[in-house]
Amino acid sequence: SKPVIALVGRPNVGKSTLFNRLTRTRDAIVADYPGLTRDRQYGTGRTGNHPYIVVDTGGLSGEQEGVDPLMAGQVRSAIEESDAILFLVDGRAGLIPADEAIANYIRQFNKPTYLLVNKAEGHSHQLISADFFQMGLGQPFVISSAHGDNVKETIDHILDEV
Ligand code: GDP
Ligand code: MG
Repeated sequence: SKPVIALVGRPNVGKSTLFNRLTRTRDAIVADYPGLTRDRQYGTGRTGNHPYIVVDTGGLSGEQEGVDPLMAGQVRSAIEESDAILFLVDGRAGLIPADEAIANYIRQFNKPTYLLVNKAEGHSHQLISADFFQMGLGQPFVISSAHGDNVKETIDHILDEV
């Protein structure tokens, strides 16, 4: 069956922009896949011979007190039904404490997690990813969801592994 990938990260990092780029169809699929609920936005896409399902989430604030419990409930469910987590951060904002809080939250699930540094158009990939490498989630994938830079390569790589 199709792997399910969940888009997770702070509000405004570009999750929905990436979702739109990765999906061609929406909505209709929920009924076809038992276990998916209507609370979240789902879409399907395909790269080469690899079809996939993407789940968009509202975002985790990662405020100092920890991850907002209400949002976390929704994100938790998305993560639990997924095969891989795509954790988006904002390459223009750089690494902020909220990202670290979200990284810690995500870690407890022990799911394959990929760190995507978004909004990277026009920036050195090496410079922009150095900061985020500290989170211990491996070498980040540097992308621009708005422009499409490196999105196909990144999704190809991820789907080869999940
Ligand atoms: P979400 O809250 O994480 O779903 O973020 P959105 O997808 O709604 O995007 C938030 C803002 O960031 C919007 O104004 C997008 O146009 C912008 N954005 C998203 N991706 C990129 C990108 O790759 N580069 C730039 N410069 N802006 C982006
Ligand atoms: Mg959104």
